[in-house]
Amino acid sequence: QQKVQEFEYKAEMKQLLNLIVHSLYTHPEIFLRELISNASDALNKIHFDQLTENKAEGEGEELKITITLDEKERTFIIEDNGTGMSEDELIANLGTVAKSGTLGFLQALKEQQPDKSGIDANLIGQFGVGFYSVFMVTDEVTVETKTEDSQGCRWCSSGEGTYTIETIDREKRGTKISFTLKEDAKEFAEAFRVENIIRKYSNFVDFPIYLDNKKVNSITALWQRPKSDLKEEEVNEFYKFISVDYQEPLDYLHLSLEGVVNFKALLFLPKEAPMDMLYQQGALENHGPQLYVRKVMIQHECKDLLPEYLRFVKGVVETEDLPLNVSREVVQNSPVMAKIRQILTTKIIGWFESLAQDHKEKFRQFYKAFGPVVKIGLNTDFTNRDKLIELLRFESTTTEEGEFVTLREYVDRMVEDQKEIYYLSGDNRQQMLSNPNLEYFRKKGIEVLLLVDPVDVFVIPSINEYDKKPLKSIEKADIDFKAGEDEEKEALSKNMIEPVLKIFKEALGDKVEDVIESHRLVNSPVTLVSGKDAMDPQIEKMLRMMKQ
Ligand code: ADP
Ligand code: MG
Repeated sequence: QQKVQEFEYKAEMKQLLNLIVHSLYTHPEIFLRELISNASDALNKIHFDQLTENKAEGEGEELKITITLDEKERTFIIEDNGTGMSEDELIANLGTVAKSGTLGFLQALKEQQPDKSGIDANLIGQFGVGFYSVFMVTDEVTVETKTEDSQGCRWCSSGEGTYTIETIDREKRGTKISFTLKEDAKEFAEAFRVENIIRKYSNFVDFPIYLDNKKVNSITALWQRPKSDLKEEEVNEFYKFISVDYQEPLDYLHLSLEGVVNFKALLFLPKEAPMDMLYQQGALENHGPQLYVRKVMIQHECKDLLPEYLRFVKGVVETEDLPLNVSREVVQNSPVMAKIRQILTTKIIGWFESLAQDHKEKFRQFYKAFGPVVKIGLNTDFTNRDKLIELLRFESTTTEEGEFVTLREYVDRMVEDQKEIYYLSGDNRQQMLSNPNLEYFRKKGIEVLLLVDPVDVFVIPSINEYDKKPLKSIEKADIDFKAGEDEEKEALSKNMIEPVLKIFKEALGDKVEDVIESHRLVNSPVTLVSGKDAMDPQIEKMLRMMKQ
């Protein structure tokens, strides 16, 4: 008396399936990457359970993914002996939009405005809606699955609003997904084609993938090999695999540490920041390298491995020094973890320093993409603050547009008697260059830093001093102008100035804090500055915007 139950997808789900089928069509092959990645996740969970002896049934059995094709019938079957799903899990995982990723994916799709070439195929994996990509290549999918201790279930759907679930007799733990390929997707029933796709997207999956009884992927833990053994091409492929980036990495760092703690790491700098990374609250929460303990992946995005301001670094960290069966909270608070994080942070900053030194173009690219994130560290990582300050780069009145100066270089070329480091903040270079407050500095040949990154106004004033030279906004009233004060001090006498100031004060009233004589103007008759203790005008502007 097995009964078939029918369920209806929620409205958003229909919309999602529709979008996937119609906007990802330029990359139908990613369905395979997504199905393999799900199988690998399920295998990883079982592997973990077996090693921690939670449920070690079926020991000795090889954990694997098997793909079976039939070119004539156009059928495709992918099977794994991972965790499997119970009936409830099937409904929760393959039938609802309650899963956090779905809505995020829809949002990102909308923002991306698909053009004719289809939308970015990487989005689908990033938002945890990968399973549905199968509907690009088939009209109907059957999932048969069983967990260690529940009854087998079959889930069927044509992706058009409903799905069915029934219980079945299935002996083996794991999941089998089968379907008939659409006519225009029949290439995915060809072994040669499928093998190439696996090599391209899934070569580094931790479990063997068998296609017609032949193992296709290479499963090498690259980070365990000595540095001299790594080929650039291989490393780049590995990066693309773990980061789901279509571009090569900007640079990589291989570490193998023995001592107080032992770990190996293979870390990458992406060429570009992901869309959500900058300025979005909490965006860095879901970033971080993968954590492996004794060859088992423990966390996909382990944020505890790195401080927030470095979490854009991708890669893998593996250690033997953590027990396998620790909970997330214990990992978080373990002294081993703290030590690893501390060492990684130092090594990564050293990596940036060496890029700045020896690979200027790479550093420039890195700084453009991640500079605004790294600057967060100035206010949060006081141990490494001084090193981070050295990494800062600024445009200035002396540099060309898009060229940069460091604080060190600035100080080294300060004019005689200059005691302070001057900066101006604003929305863009052109607008800043026409600021009347610059006149004096221009005339005196004094360099002024131009803070164009919106993050700057929040971090730069907090530096206070560099090499004993105070950092000063030229829009503040209390600038020390003793630097080369001279000839134009022929000045106006007090009794000429006073009446003028009085007229201005009366006319402006409460609108200004004070009206004073200026020594900094050359061509303009008046300028507006902030009081000594006032907020930076850029911050003020932002706060005003946020209030609205
Ligand atoms: P994600 O993998 O990012 O969670 P997917 O849409 O790819 O999103 O998969 C949805 C969920 O379905 C998975 O999280 C998992 O719980 C379940 N699932 C999919 N495939 C399998 C499988 N082969 N074995 C066990 N569970 C699976
Ligand atoms: Mg998935």
